[in-house]
Amino acid sequence: MKVNRREFLKLTATTAGALLVPSGAALAEEAPTFPLHKMVGETPTICCFCGVGCGAIVSAEGGRVLNLEGDPDHPINQGSLCSKGLALAQINTVDGEINRHRLQTVKYRASGSSQWEEKDWDWALETIARRIKDTREGSFLEQDGEGRTVNRVEAIASLGGAALDNEECSLLSKAMRALGLVYIEHQARI
Ligand code: SF4
Repeated sequence: MKVNRREFLKLTATTAGALLVPSGAALAEEAPTFPLHKMVGETPTICCFCGVGCGAIVSAEGGRVLNLEGDPDHPINQGSLCSKGLALAQINTVDGEINRHRLQTVKYRASGSSQWEEKDWDWALETIARRIKDTREGSFLEQDGEGRTVNRVEAIASLGGAALDNEECSLLSKAMRALGLVYIEHQARI
């Protein structure tokens, strides 16, 4: 019978629990009343930093990452992570606090300017949507130079960032293809 890590741990815990019931009950009477530890859930995820796609397990509580480690059941990395992957938690949490270097507001630098301006999300979304619509409508290509139907947009490119996870990248590429984009990339492949 092939047993993976999680099943092995479950089996071990069940066996140990069964063996310890009598002495465990006796110990419970003497146990202190405060909780010795707190259980938090584990969520499997994919490291977003490069195209290798290592698996990781993350434990979080209250919006902060408590622990992150390589996923031993993942077929690619089998529990290991490189130094970048080990720092993955810092996208969110540093020394138990939300990373103070995370941008909390929209920053906009106009074409030709060297200054960043702070904008709100309504302005950013409206501006992005307007520019995509205008550019797409102004450049949509129904046929290529040899008369073949192509229905594509060559004037817009999409570049996914390192903080996008697997699922977000999947949604992004679908949305871009629905618009007709053909130049779609992600930093992990660059
Ligand atoms: S950055 Fe490191 S841990 Fe992350 S996917 Fe690439 S090799 Fe794996």
